Amino acid sequence: MSTLLDISMTEMSPVNQASPVPAKMAMPDAQTVTAVTHWTDRLFSFRVTRPQSLRFRSGEFVMIGLMGDPDPKTGKQKPLLRAYSIASPSWDEELEFYSIKVQDGPLTSRLQHIQPGDQIILRPKPVGTLVHDALLPGKRIWFFATGTGFAPFASLLREPETYENYEQVIITHTCRDVAELDYGRTLIEELKADEMMQELIGAENLAKIRYYPTTTREESPKMGRITTLLEDGTVFRDLGIDGISPETDRGMVCGSLDFNTDMKALLEGFGLTEGANSEPAQYVVEKAFVG
Ligand SMILES: Cc1cc2nc3c(=O)[nH]c(=O)nc-3n(C[C@H](O)[C@H](O)[C@H](O)COP(=O)(O)OP(=O)(O)OC[C@H]3O[C@@H](n4cnc5c(N)ncnc54)[C@H](O)[C@@H]3O)c2cc1C
Repeated sequence: MSTLLDISMTEMSPVNQASPVPAKMAMPDAQTVTAVTHWTDRLFSFRVTRPQSLRFRSGEFVMIGLMGDPDPKTGKQKPLLRAYSIASPSWDEELEFYSIKVQDGPLTSRLQHIQPGDQIILRPKPVGTLVHDALLPGKRIWFFATGTGFAPFASLLREPETYENYEQVIITHTCRDVAELDYGRTLIEELKADEMMQELIGAENLAKIRYYPTTTREESPKMGRITTLLEDGTVFRDLGIDGISPETDRGMVCGSLDFNTDMKALLEGFGLTEGANSEPAQYVVEKAFVG
């Protein structure tokens, strides 16, 4: 086990040397890392234990983090927390997250080094707008993601309600390079091949997924921003769809602020209106990060 949190734990309470995991009492919101996968030098995913009391709707986010460095004057440590979409579905017994590695980022410069057995802090208060409750019934759901904006859809793609609600499930994912698509592509491939998922969701339901990956920098079978490909009709031609209409189509958007702004304008142009938990409508948007 690495020492990421041990340092903070020793400040707060003695660590039992016999136990690889510091006593839970020392940090009430601590969860233990169970698996870590590095996808590229900028992206990784990890799984942690799930607090028994945590209930959430697929697509929501929580605050997670690590103990910050001690204050040079007081020696006190405060949790360093950031918003993270839960990438696992609501029924999963563990929680999964899909993360960027920002080299000088206060949290992820450290979080990228976690290993199984380490602990992270998880505030069990899920919130968010990328939930089925915020959309009116429709025939086709579109998930539009860039970068780590795939995370809430990794949850919703494994959620049976997605397939109960819709006849078609289209997921677009745009990244700069091909390797940045790996987490999403692997997840969808495994989802379709997994016997347990076929039983839970149904093979005919999993066949509803249409995956539409694009890259903006590295050469790949489909190049370009999804906004451009929607504007010029390429997406519709490729998928054999007439277009997006408020009668049949529902959308969820998760990417950078600029991407979200452009997607909102496009979806409004197709006649869709923005929904919220309190007022369901035809599309919903959430930031994948701030800045
Ligand atoms: C609602 C919400 C959900 C989020 N869900 C996730 C998630 O599932 N996975 C995830 O990795 N991050 C997610 N984030 C971003 C996350 O909260 C942190 O910003 C990120 O973990 C980096 O933290 P940091 O302290 O290292 O750097 P920060 O100081 O938080 O960020 C430094 C800079 O890095 C860039 N940056 C931050 N996050 C990203 C990102 N995800 N992709 C590309 N550039 C980024 C921005 O330019 C930012 O200004 C989410 C943010 C919000 C608001």
